Amino acid sequence: MSFEQLGLLPELLEAIRTQGYESPTPIQSKAIPVVLTGEDVLAGAQTGTGKTAAFVLPMLQILNKRRRTSKNPRALVLTPTRELAAQIEDSVRTYGRHLRLYSTVVFGGVGINPQIAKLRKGVDLLVATPGRLLDHVGQRTVDLSEIEILVLDEADRMLDMGFIHDIRKVLRLLPEDRQNLLFSATYSNEIKKLADGLLNNPRVIEVAARNTAAETVAQAIYRVPRSRKRTALSHLIKEGDWHQVLVFTRTKHGANRLARQLTTDGINAAAIHGNKSQSARTRALGDFKSNAIQVLVATDVAARGIDVDQLPRVVNFDLPEVPETYVHRIGRTGRAGTEGKAVSLVSDNERRLLRAIERLLGRSIEVASITGVDLSPKESDLEPPPPPGSHRRSQGNRHGQRRRKNASNDNRPRRQGSNNSSNNSNNSNNSNNSNNSNSNNSNRSSSAGSQKKRSRGPQHSR
Ligand code: AMP
Repeated sequence: MSFEQLGLLPELLEAIRTQGYESPTPIQSKAIPVVLTGEDVLAGAQTGTGKTAAFVLPMLQILNKRRRTSKNPRALVLTPTRELAAQIEDSVRTYGRHLRLYSTVVFGGVGINPQIAKLRKGVDLLVATPGRLLDHVGQRTVDLSEIEILVLDEADRMLDMGFIHDIRKVLRLLPEDRQNLLFSATYSNEIKKLADGLLNNPRVIEVAARNTAAETVAQAIYRVPRSRKRTALSHLIKEGDWHQVLVFTRTKHGANRLARQLTTDGINAAAIHGNKSQSARTRALGDFKSNAIQVLVATDVAARGIDVDQLPRVVNFDLPEVPETYVHRIGRTGRAGTEGKAVSLVSDNERRLLRAIERLLGRSIEVASITGVDLSPKESDLEPPPPPGSHRRSQGNRHGQRRRKNASNDNRPRRQGSNNSSNNSNNSNNSNNSNNSNSNNSNRSSSAGSQKKRSRGPQHSR
């Protein structure tokens, strides 16, 4: 299968050639023709499979069919994190370089005014994280009433991060008749519920069996006492001369500490997480991509948007509490068909987590051994580990509640069912919400891809 056979415009084919892509990835071969028909899509695709181009290319082609008649966006991509949002918009620019379409990206953690200025100029395609998008809606600096295509990218991750309420608010602001694309690496009951309410007779596209890790990733575990993990990691990195290593820790505090310790061990490391300023994160990511730093230690949330071509190695310093997160993590390597390696340092107290991951994968992970370094348990390893709650507490909000201040800080994990009253009250002066409170997405017209009606979207005076 070639890109030419997918029915893409010459301008898009030219941009693809410049990127050096020789042939479509499986998700691209399957999704592009379907998205071009205007149908709703439910796609099970892991990160690294080329899924961004799978929705961006056909969206650009559809948007290019006619010119914008107002300054309002016609396509909206919702993503869980700032980094991913920035990356997707970058892809939109890259693939759309020969078309006269405009895009912009909005996410929290940076000033809102430059985003407002760009929105004012008019855009065809908007990429956004949910919290900041709602901030713009509240300030009436964006009007979503002309959205023809909606993409929920990494929908499972958005739900994990507690964005369901924000997503539902955004959905109420959109016209009923639109095309919906939902991408998710894993398929939980929550995703099914969201898909059932959102998608209209969707075409289901699957490129790998659900909940299985990318086949090109070689996985191994090292059994290491908790107190020796850092020694083991330093040893593995030095002995194996590992570069561009992405290391996952469960907490921000853990990420900071490990980056400091690795630096003490003579390894060039930096930490990236939600408490870092956007500029510090961008700098760390840039240094990592250019190989100026050898190891990037990240929390799950911060690592979500990292796209480094052919990232060779991912390390789970801590196993994740949620087994699906393991699949996401190792998806950072072995991207778009390249070889990748994922290793996990597993201590005795993490056996339960390992069993859950292996159950999800449907197989056990190979156990490898480390030689040449003392990894005997210390006395502290016999003590019970700190309860999971104490990790989470150190990740930020001590009260387990979402503060409104964080609504624009999109990378913070949010708890579903947490107290959202402050959030609601913040939006209570937003006439869009009240105008559309009766809007129900399940009532949408079934003619996806047909002539768009502008019946229920908010009409702002700009
Ligand atoms: P994604 O899954 O969208 O994050 O894409 C992962 C990586 O694959 C990105 O670095 C893309 O530039 C790259 N990529 C996307 N499509 C192709 C293709 N057809 N051939 C080679 N690389 C690709």
